Amino acid sequence: MHELSIVSGIVESVLNFVAAQQISKVVDVRLSVGELTNLQPEQLCFCYTALIEQTAIAGSKLEVEAVPAVVSCPHCSYQGPPKYWADALSLAPVPTLQCPQCGKATEATQGHECAIKTIKYVA
Ligand SMILES: [Zn+2]
Repeated sequence: MHELSIVSGIVESVLNFVAAQQISKVVDVRLSVGELTNLQPEQLCFCYTALIEQTAIAGSKLEVEAVPAVVSCPHCSYQGPPKYWADALSLAPVPTLQCPQCGKATEATQGHECAIKTIKYVA
């Protein structure tokens, strides 16, 4: 599972941080997750809870903050939210990398990230 490998990397970073800073208790970990990653927040939280059992950060919570996609078009210099395809099979519209203005391919400048934003802890 994609989520599991990502979350295990995150848990590892948090554990390293806790060990280095000699933190007694982590309350919650806030994650920025881009819209274009296709990661499901529920899946991330589920993996997190499973992975932190028996570790120094057991009992902490994972909070997922969605980062909206932003694209920029090298053809017409459009910058902004991407074009969405309404997909009948999924509940949410699917962001595409097609320019909403000229229809050519854009580059995502935001929306691919998956990183720890903040760690709330008790020293
Ligand atoms: Zn364009």
